[in-house]
Amino acid sequence: MGRDGKGDVGFIGLGTMGREMVRNLLGAGHRVRAFDIAAAAVEDAVAAGAVAASSPADAAHGCDLAISMLPDTPHVEAVIYGADGLLAAPPAGRLVVDMSTISPVAVRRMHADLAAAGTAFLDAPVSGGPVGAKNATLSIMAGGDADAFVRARPVFEAMGTTITHVGAPGAGQTVKLCNQLVCGLNIQAICEALALGRASGVDLEQLRHVLLGGSAASWMLDKLGPAMIAGDAGAGFRIDLMFKDLRLVQEHAQALSVPLPGTALVTGQYVEARAHGEGANGNQALFRVYDRMTNQASR
Ligand code: NAD
Repeated sequence: MGRDGKGDVGFIGLGTMGREMVRNLLGAGHRVRAFDIAAAAVEDAVAAGAVAASSPADAAHGCDLAISMLPDTPHVEAVIYGADGLLAAPPAGRLVVDMSTISPVAVRRMHADLAAAGTAFLDAPVSGGPVGAKNATLSIMAGGDADAFVRARPVFEAMGTTITHVGAPGAGQTVKLCNQLVCGLNIQAICEALALGRASGVDLEQLRHVLLGGSAASWMLDKLGPAMIAGDAGAGFRIDLMFKDLRLVQEHAQALSVPLPGTALVTGQYVEARAHGEGANGNQALFRVYDRMTNQASR
């Protein structure tokens, strides 16, 4: 990191979230070497001011740190352990930060394997969605070494506002999974309230307005409520990704013998949504499960 706090960042994974995070890094004065398996995503990052990289190793080359923002555990494993991966070719600053939502168990193995090779690692998933990514207001929760967190902090500050070191390796992912558990149960609760309100003939916008003014208020109701009411299943945090997160929650809980009956219930509804071809739709499309259960599927 330069004396001005500006650094050289390798960034791997330029999708819904990564694309916006790169823009904010560039806007804050950091230099970015960008890689994605989708050539169009790299071209988009180059148009925003990044340098194109041809592999994870090439993205990390000469950088203070390398960041990955990828769909799931196998993608991050490929970027770390694969040919041209970060284990064999770490950034010059010997710091790798994964900001995806992936398995805490896999993450602890990455911490250990990278540490054995002399490279620090942080699991630093985020909350706040594409809007938080665009506005640089993400909540970033990091697990790993305190020194590594201090080094990464100026880079985190370009992407988020709530930046917290939550503990040892894997703790970032654990906190993120707790976050997703709350989000999943919350969106299900909103679906049930809207289904009941609709069947009773209540105006749903008014219902939402009233709930937002009282103790039932939530981010989900505020941000996703309008699309749920309108039946707009379009873009957003994909049903597939939320299902992946709930699967990770359950795997983690089962390994620790922690029963999560509420999570099991809502996961079944995500299975139903995917079975009806909703996987690529936004999270708000969970309400379509309730459309189907209440004979409103044609709306
Ligand atoms: P995305 O699918 O839109 O983007 C992922 C990108 O990774 C794609 O551009 C894909 O081409 C690229 N990719 C896949 N494998 C790769 C590889 N081996 N090497 C290089 N690039 C590769 O996903 P997203 O919505 O940006 O989410 C990324 C992560 O952040 C996920 O773990 C997700 O759960 C988490 N997250 C997403 C949101 C959200 O609202 N979208 C919010 C918080 C956290």
